[in-house]
Amino acid sequence: MKRRVAFLTRAGKIEIRKQEMPELCEGEVLIRVRSVGICGSDISYYTKGETGLGRLDFPHILGHECAGDVVRTGGEDRRLQPGDRVAVEPGVGCGICDYCRTGRYNLCESMAFMSSAIKRPGGEGGMAEYIVRPTQYVYPIPDTMSYEQAALAEPVSVAIHAMRRSGIRPGQSAAILGCGPIAGCILLVLSACGVSRIYMTDIDETRVRKMKGLGASETYLVKGKEPESLRALLPEEVDVVFDTTCQEDACNASLSWIKKGGVLTLVGVPTGYRMLDLQTLFVREQSIITTFRYANTYPTAIRLMEGGRLHPEALVSHRFPFEKAGEAMEKAAAREPDVMKVMIAL
Ligand SMILES: [Zn+2]
Ligand SMILES: [Zn+2]
Repeated sequence: MKRRVAFLTRAGKIEIRKQEMPELCEGEVLIRVRSVGICGSDISYYTKGETGLGRLDFPHILGHECAGDVVRTGGEDRRLQPGDRVAVEPGVGCGICDYCRTGRYNLCESMAFMSSAIKRPGGEGGMAEYIVRPTQYVYPIPDTMSYEQAALAEPVSVAIHAMRRSGIRPGQSAAILGCGPIAGCILLVLSACGVSRIYMTDIDETRVRKMKGLGASETYLVKGKEPESLRALLPEEVDVVFDTTCQEDACNASLSWIKKGGVLTLVGVPTGYRMLDLQTLFVREQSIITTFRYANTYPTAIRLMEGGRLHPEALVSHRFPFEKAGEAMEKAAAREPDVMKVMIAL
């Protein structure tokens, strides 16, 4: 039996090829992939062959947001049975280091992350008909959840981790810089968890409108605005700012939106900051919190969706069949304002 795989053969070129099935070992599970989401890092690999953190070797398989059906387990498995519908967590820790043992496996030095090129050779991605994954990072999902929702547990995980790290609590307020898919996930997760007022900014009108429609308390178009004029933008000071833009100016302007003692949470790869205004942070005794991927978030993501409290599929703007994986990548990479989350169905 063979599997079809979408290979990135060079920057900007996806080719679907047939390949031998991957080997299945003890403690692993063979999954028929049904849904894969395209993430910012996939777009970066697709267009440039790298992210700010690593360069990949071609050919490469993209995709780390996936869900599907269990086909077979390697050996006896008490949790998973053939036919189970599952969400796949892409980051696998070594399980024995201090970080892994204390629940912070996202920081594990030996982390093997699907499709990531931070370490070489890069991990194998999920844009394939069949993949093999370690069973303990594969989670059964209820029948009420779609494969697409299950795949979206990945960006939702980024949001849950950022929320936890920020320390924000129900009834508090937040501002989110940027209105892209990750910002959208943060909005939805914060809303689901009782954060009462959420303000969002972006330089694109379509995106700002989209977030208003998804429940942001207020949205602001900040294109062309002077940093000085941004300081008094919000009607109140907030407990936490989440930055998804990595724009230094926007970030510095937002410090005046945060209450004294509040928190600036950086979400995403911080390639854009050189000069954060530590002076302001200092006199206002504000904290900077960084977030790197996530740990222990999948069960929470699944429960929030299962309970109907979280609908990340509202962020999906385009859907493509597997045969058109190349078109899907082109669509995602074009970064048109109406492109939010692009999903591939298999
Ligand atoms: Zn992702
Ligand atoms: Zn480890």
